[in-house]
Amino acid sequence: MWQAGLMAAYSIKKLRQEDRVQCIQYALDRPGVLTVLPGIRGKEDLKELLKYVDATPEEKDYSIIGEFAPADVTGKCVYCNHCMPCPMNLDIGLINKYYDLSLAGDNLAKDHYMNLDKTAKDCISCGHCNSRCQFSVDQMSRMKVIKEYFGK
Ligand code: SF4
Ligand code: SF4
Repeated sequence: MWQAGLMAAYSIKKLRQEDRVQCIQYALDRPGVLTVLPGIRGKEDLKELLKYVDATPEEKDYSIIGEFAPADVTGKCVYCNHCMPCPMNLDIGLINKYYDLSLAGDNLAKDHYMNLDKTAKDCISCGHCNSRCQFSVDQMSRMKVIKEYFGK
């Protein structure tokens, strides 16, 4: 599944002719993905891919995908953290990722969530994330749902 995701991301980026760093980050952020192994044709491809190692958070920001995301992705968090920073220092992408993984039956995700310094209960509903999200996620409401689900 991750391979399909990466290929989809690559094909999107091909259309945009932009850096593959964002595609790798996108694939790594999918639930359940631990490793990404892109195919390479030679040294030049490898050099291009290794840019990921030293890339800044801004260079890894793939939220631009939201500009041409299909309708069925609209409103769904893809953990890109483009809505950051949060004034309460919530890691919005990670909180959403643990929530989705837990819903999918991953018990470890719940443990990880419980160990976070800041959780959905710390959200003050300031609306900053809603105004920044290019995927039209109502994150303020989602934080309330996540708090209810985990109890914190
Ligand atoms: S709420 Fe939007 S911007 Fe924030 S992590 Fe989710 S998809 Fe990205
Ligand atoms: S609404 Fe909540 S999660 Fe979003 S930026 Fe404000 S405090 Fe952070």
